[in-house]
This record gives sequence, structure tokens and C-alpha cells, in this order.
Amino acid sequence: MAKQFKPETLCVQAGWSPKKGEPRVVPIYQSTTFKYETSEQMARLFDLEESGYFYTRLQNPTNDVVAAKIAALEGGVAAMLTSSGQAANMYAVFNICQAGDHFVSSSCIYGGTYNLFGVTMKKLGIDVTFIDPDATEEEISAAFRPNTKALFGETVSNPTLEVLDIEKFARIAHSHGVPLIVDNTFPTPINCRPFEWGADIVVHSTTKYMDGHATSVGGAIVDSGRFDWDAHADKFPGLCTPDESYHGLTYTKAFGPMAYITKATAQLMRDLGSIQSPQNAFLLNLGLETLHLRVPRHCQNAQAVAEFLDGCQKVAWVNYSGLPGNKYHELAMKYMPGGSCGVVTFGLKGGREVAIKFMDSLKLGAIVTHVADVRTCVLHPASHTHRQLTDEQLLAAGVRPDLIRFSVGVENIDDILDDIKQALDQVKP
Ligand SMILES: *Cc1c(COP(=O)(O)O)cnc(C)c1O
Repeated sequence: MAKQFKPETLCVQAGWSPKKGEPRVVPIYQSTTFKYETSEQMARLFDLEESGYFYTRLQNPTNDVVAAKIAALEGGVAAMLTSSGQAANMYAVFNICQAGDHFVSSSCIYGGTYNLFGVTMKKLGIDVTFIDPDATEEEISAAFRPNTKALFGETVSNPTLEVLDIEKFARIAHSHGVPLIVDNTFPTPINCRPFEWGADIVVHSTTKYMDGHATSVGGAIVDSGRFDWDAHADKFPGLCTPDESYHGLTYTKAFGPMAYITKATAQLMRDLGSIQSPQNAFLLNLGLETLHLRVPRHCQNAQAVAEFLDGCQKVAWVNYSGLPGNKYHELAMKYMPGGSCGVVTFGLKGGREVAIKFMDSLKLGAIVTHVADVRTCVLHPASHTHRQLTDEQLLAAGVRPDLIRFSVGVENIDDILDDIKQALDQVKP
């Protein structure tokens, strides 16, 4: 049913179509396991000869309903939920990279992902090269090696808010015979659908706008089903040659456009765990039902906050792609004409100490390690998430020491602006 409906309808309806007498709302299948009539029936599931549920570490009906909704919203063939955005990024890469392999990633990505790729995955023997996403195609291409298996970027980077030129990245990836993986957490499919611009795999931290109420940590991987793995079979033996742990089944032959996501579920989830709990998937679904209402309001409020800060004496700089003078304004207009996200970053004259005084003076905006939920919140990366870094290291990571990350909620804009005004009144540059 999913495809012909518009995003707003998909948010509300996709994934769950109950039949006569079934619950209107997707139930929480709070069960580790599922019953069969014969031993033979269950054996067929283990051989991947039939699809069906047997153990919630691999698949659960509640999760699958919510994953199907996210797949429909992104325009993909299928999706898988994970226990966190970190797990989604880990699996998305690990599904096609093994020890001895290499991938290329934008350097403008979430700090947790940067660490996962640059430190932890290196310990598994998977090497990464970080590149400046604004570099030329030639410069980025120079980072590719014979063993490179993927290119990775964030549509809108957290917290530096760089906008990815998705078409450029897709061209580079495809000219090297590898997929483009895009983390689309900040725009959500309401503002941008990277598959429409050539991306092959999309990942999400559903913890952010998708849940949107700060109740549940979670992630998702969505497969466009369009990357031709068999055309580059030498690069992707995990997908294109027999899997001995499934009696010699070959994913691309058995599952066609679903090969990548089926391998992620049947192999990585089986072996590594990190499933999203059905309870969290249920809460995520409640968030998704209003995603199309919340995201435009977040963007509208963020635009007003950015414009207000831009005109303030005490403000040193403002970064929001909705401002016409912003470095990424044109790219944002191309990929996200309806708005980018609800996060604005800025610095105050006087730097670090003034930033702290401002944040401590906010009454409505709360200091929390979170972004992208309905409540306005604020974080100072140099004092919090990135506090182990020196000022030089911060700048190298693209995070200015005075950067305030302001996540604009969906409260009344006058109340948000009044809170900013009274907090600004407390600070002296
Ligand atoms: C938060 C975030 C992650 C990590 O997600 P968790 O759900 O916190 O594990 C990954 N990518 C982006 C862009 C994020 O904002």
C-alpha cells in the first residue's frame, strides 16, 4: 500500500493495516519467541527458506511494522531497527566491510560516529579515511583504494550543520563501484529523502526527531534496494558468495534487491544482537505518527531563532542554513527546500565563559545531552560532549570552543525568544 501515499499519510498509516477484528494500533509483541506446529516449519525458517518470526533478537512483528513505515517514508525496499543510532552506523558499514577493508567518510559527522569509525572499527581491522566533504570530486576520489567498500556522509552534520552535496557524493561512490551511505537523522525523510539524490543506504538515529519526545534510544538502516552488488561481486563477497552459516545461501541470488538488509538481519543481528526493544519501537511509532507536523514547526521556530540571533549585538556568529548568507544556504535550498532541521548553532562575543553564563541563565531551554525533541534544549560541546579536547583539537573537529548547540523545540516561538532575550540580558561580553 505504502508507495502511492504522500509522506504525511505514510507517517500516520504506513506499516500497519489491520484486518477484521485486529487491533487498530500496532500491538507491542512483548515476546521473545514464536510458536510453530511442527519441527519442520521451524527448520525452514532457520534455513531462510521461509520468512517468519522465531526469536526477537532477529525479528519482531512490532519492530517490522515500524521499520516498514520508515522504509516507506525514505522510499526504500526495507528497513531494520537497531537499539541505537550507533548500532545502525556500525551495522551499515560492517555489513559490507570486513578486516582488511577500507571506507571513506566525511569528517563532518556526529562525534560518536567519528569515534566509532576512527577508533573502534580500526581495532576490528577496518580502516577509514576522513575527507573534507566540501573538497572537490578529484580530491575525495584520491582517498579511494582498491579495498574501499563504501562512502559515508551526514545530510546535515551534528553539531556543525554542514549540508552534504548528496549528488556529488553519490557520483564519487558509484564511479568507484561502492554504495553511498547517508545518515539522514537531522532532516528526517520529511525534509530530505537521500535515495532521490542517489544514496544507496540511509541510516538514522531514531532517538532524535523520529521519536521526537526523548523517550527511546534507537536506530534504523534503510535499503534503497538499488545498488547492484553483483556488478561489483569481487568487492562484496559477503553478499555475492555463499554464506556457510546459512548452508551456502548467497544473499544476492536468494533475496535480490533485499540482499543487503536481509544479510544485516539474518547475519549481523543474529550474531551481534543490538535489536530495538518492541516497547521502544512502539514509542518510536507514536513519534512517527506526528513527524510531519513536528518537523516543519521545529524548522519554522529555528528559522525565527536564527534570524533573531543574527541581529543581536552580543552574538558573534550564527550558523543555520536557512539564513541567506549561510555557506550552505544554496545546498540546503536544493536538497531541503522545506527546511533543514531545528538545530541552530551560534557563538557569543566573549567566548566560552559567556556561553556558559548564557546557558545557565536560560529558564525554558534545558541543558541536556540531547537534540531534536519537542522541548527546547541546549548544549555546549566544548564543556560537555567534547570536553576532553583542547581548543586546537576542537577547531580541528570543526567545533568552535564558543559553539552553543541550540535545539529549538515546538513551544510557542514568542516564549522561546523571550527566554533567549532574558538570558542574553544576563551576559556581558
Ligand atoms: C545522535 C546521533 C547518532 C547516534 O545515535 P544514538 O541513537 O545516540 O546512538 C548518529 N548520528 C547522528 C547524526 C546523531 O545525531
